[in-house]
Amino acid sequence: MLAIDFHTHAMRPDLIPASVLRLRARATLSQRGFDLTSTGADEAVDRMTCRIIENMNDPEATHLRRAMESVGTGHAVIVGLDWGLVGEPVDVSLLYSWLDWARPVVEAHAGFFSFVIGVDPRRPEAASVTHQALTEPWVAGVKLYPPAGFAADDPACDPIYAAATGAGAFVMCHTGRQTYPFDLMRGRVEQYAAVQRKHPDLRLVLAHAGAPLWGPHAIEVCAGHPSTYLEVSGWHHLMTKEPDRLRAMLESMWRSAGPQRVLFGSDYLAGPGFDNAASAVRQWKDFFEQTASDFGIDLGRSQAAARDLLHRSITTDERPP
Ligand SMILES: [Zn+2]
Repeated sequence: MLAIDFHTHAMRPDLIPASVLRLRARATLSQRGFDLTSTGADEAVDRMTCRIIENMNDPEATHLRRAMESVGTGHAVIVGLDWGLVGEPVDVSLLYSWLDWARPVVEAHAGFFSFVIGVDPRRPEAASVTHQALTEPWVAGVKLYPPAGFAADDPACDPIYAAATGAGAFVMCHTGRQTYPFDLMRGRVEQYAAVQRKHPDLRLVLAHAGAPLWGPHAIEVCAGHPSTYLEVSGWHHLMTKEPDRLRAMLESMWRSAGPQRVLFGSDYLAGPGFDNAASAVRQWKDFFEQTASDFGIDLGRSQAAARDLLHRSITTDERPP
């Protein structure tokens, strides 16, 4: 029944800055108890960085396409990320690289994918790149990643919200958890109340709906503003450990925002290292659909809303059932 996945990732690994991948590698090793001050630590970080790159290497989105089809998804949104100002700065050419990469990928898969361009508003060129990207019909929206180090209600974001609204596109913002080198505080959701008041016509998607820390906050921020949406990826981590809490959270989202403003997403990262993880997306879809059915929620309304949000990039005859 859920034909659209509103949050997925495929990428050519060099679109994520090397310094960020290295910090990720250090974090992973540390979490596994590795002593980063020991001799040979640099080599271990190098090896881990290489593994991360190999695992997520999906330059033509063939791994993502296969994974999505294997779980019955008919259309997926590929979300881009501008992490160029998180580690060692990477200039605006990174954003053009994302567009140059995504254009042939979206074309080659003829209607299966929409693309969302990640933009860091602190770049002097942020507004002009956003305008330029939104001249492309296959660019469905813009992704802001405040934990990269900025506030969602910073005036620097205003031209991006205005450009998206003017182009009939949406802005998707990362909310909820993130860890070093990102800024957890910028994952909080209260800041979006100011954004809504300043940009009442903005179509705003709260990616991850505050998962797992600020679900009730995300619901409250979303509830009163008719064009704010909750995208539920991230909450799936509760599926096995806290299924009752997850069911209650979903019910609260549906009851407070309405089923049409709760969008299904998996945040699936495709690549050779993650082919086996596609079954977890299937589990999450099944859980979401079963919970909706238990509470008498019509997911057709959610799917119609997702299609409407993606209207720039899905043509009528390409629309999934
Ligand atoms: Zn994501």
